[in-house]
Amino acid sequence: MRGRVSRLEQTVRRKPSRSAGLTLSPFSPHTSHTPHTPSSPASDMSYITAFSPDYATARNRFSTSALALGCRLEAHSIEQTGPNGEDLTIDVAILGNPNSQKIVVVSSGLHGVEGFFGSAVQCALLEERLVSWNPSQDTALVLLHALNPYGFAWCRRWNEENIDLNRNFLLPGEEYKGSPAKYGDFNAFFNPTSPPSRFEPFLLKAIASILRYGISSFTSTLPVGQYDFPQGLFFGGHRPSKTYQILDQNLPRWIGNASDVIHIDFHTGLGKKATYKLFIDDPPDSQSTEWLKEKFGADVVEAYKARKVTYIFRGGLGSWCKTKFSQCNYNFLTAEFGTYPVIQVVAALRAENRTHFFSPANHPSRDWTRQRLMEIFAPADESWRNAVVSQGLDLVERAIAVL
Ligand SMILES: [Zn+2]
Repeated sequence: MRGRVSRLEQTVRRKPSRSAGLTLSPFSPHTSHTPHTPSSPASDMSYITAFSPDYATARNRFSTSALALGCRLEAHSIEQTGPNGEDLTIDVAILGNPNSQKIVVVSSGLHGVEGFFGSAVQCALLEERLVSWNPSQDTALVLLHALNPYGFAWCRRWNEENIDLNRNFLLPGEEYKGSPAKYGDFNAFFNPTSPPSRFEPFLLKAIASILRYGISSFTSTLPVGQYDFPQGLFFGGHRPSKTYQILDQNLPRWIGNASDVIHIDFHTGLGKKATYKLFIDDPPDSQSTEWLKEKFGADVVEAYKARKVTYIFRGGLGSWCKTKFSQCNYNFLTAEFGTYPVIQVVAALRAENRTHFFSPANHPSRDWTRQRLMEIFAPADESWRNAVVSQGLDLVERAIAVL
């Protein structure tokens, strides 16, 4: 692959800088890197072209560059179609020895619309960072593209059954029922049964609700997920989703007999703009937490269980993977990249969900709610796009280096 000029490289725009070109240096997994801090300046190379305008373009780009790089490629249909009748698939690219002891998994789009960002990182990896990579016999890379292809294609965070897939991966013995105690109280506020208006004073209503029920009940209810309101926000489903089934059947084959795995699952919409946090399911004082903090930075690695929440959510992909592959050292990092303040994120999700269920086909809310959701989870701002893709690439590079 040496000498191949990637599409990203061809289209890249460089600023006149003394350090220009540094980020193009061949990537070696054996190179020692200083842990990347999320506040460090963006690369002087532009990654904005790594973003695709829609799911179909992203899928085609991912598949084409994976094949060009010599990856093994698989496509798993979820048996749904996109806006132009296209088949919706989870695509998988594998680079390196399939019997490797060490595997880095990089997944995108578990939350549909958040896939614009995760896909951009994966495409930039395939088109630029990995071009000169010569994996050792002992290391492989598994890229899972668009874990929620329906949400990606239709610009929703949820899947074809309105399921939040990061609440659908219940562990053996857990049941698809139940909700936080206060969800029923909040349901009328979160999930009104009418089309949304652009001019609704959402913030005032949210403040009124918070004053009535208390901020802690608000924050310990909404993100936790629920299994009783199929048209509501953060619905975990009544059964294993199609994505669950595909991963359940195939992930063991992709992981093989690996002894060590680092899985980075890319998300957007949580945290300070253009910075990231790595959330982990490991206990706060465990050896694995210490190791991850040492390798990825104590300031960015955060254990869910260390947060002051009164209710730990169920159905997360991370805890499911760690349970399913308990025979190996499976490290799962939920990489959350910040976009907008949480109140704006919730307002956009709420409006889009109302439109999905209650707006007529040609209602004006169909356009503005979708555009707003796109902006919330994949801001058009070039400096944001450039910074997050650059940071995402560094994260993957770091994972390969430390494994
Ligand atoms: Zn997400």
